[in-house]
Amino acid sequence: MKLIILGAPGSGKGTTATVLREKYSLAHISTGDIFRSNIKNGTPLGLEAKSYIDKGALVPDSVTISMVEDRLAQDDCAKGYILDGFPRTLAQAEALDEMLAKQNTSIDAVLSIVVDDETIKDRVSGRRVCEKCGASFNVKFKPTKIEGVCDICGGNVVQRADDNEATVAARLETYYKNTSPLIDFYEKKGIIVEGDNNESSDVCLSQIENGLKAKGLI
Ligand code: ADP
Ligand code: ZN
Repeated sequence: MKLIILGAPGSGKGTTATVLREKYSLAHISTGDIFRSNIKNGTPLGLEAKSYIDKGALVPDSVTISMVEDRLAQDDCAKGYILDGFPRTLAQAEALDEMLAKQNTSIDAVLSIVVDDETIKDRVSGRRVCEKCGASFNVKFKPTKIEGVCDICGGNVVQRADDNEATVAARLETYYKNTSPLIDFYEKKGIIVEGDNNESSDVCLSQIENGLKAKGLI
């Protein structure tokens, strides 16, 4: 099963993808995580990506597309995968179609996560993530038991550099301008499955699983 998860920044893409990854043994490809690990390791890719990420802008398509193409060629992707944070532009979506067509395959479903803007701002400003395992917490809605320490692995829990109010506003704008048109692009292919993440992640997940069942994918 090959999935894309699509949604505004802070809509819960990563959290939902993590659950689905475990439950259905999928490789989880988060372009944001790949960029952040490159930034942490000081690679040339990380250095380039950082200047865009800090502004809430998109890393250029050419860089992002070849990075994903390399990632999809790795062995663990053969069992199926979930793309989290890619594609984010029409050019990326078209490049992905071409990559997959070369292997005689295509995306099975696009999970569209829906959340109101106000909720997003609240969730993102309070979000904290574990540096070690990537688990996501929230100072307001889901605090760690011990401040700054991951409940799951004991790692350092920190705020992402781009999770401040100004950058969140820029990221939302970028999302509506560049990424939300992709919903229409995939709607036309008839492969959208919607999950409403305003209430709870359980509701969202069950809507998604029902959609995948209706398509005979699970
Ligand atoms: P979020 O969805 O919460 O904004 P991500 O971790 O998916 O977080 O992405 C963080 C940042 O990484 C984005 O704001 C953007 O600058 C960059 N990025 C991630 N994926 C892509 C992509 N497919 N194309 C361009 N830039 C990307
Ligand atoms: Zn952790």
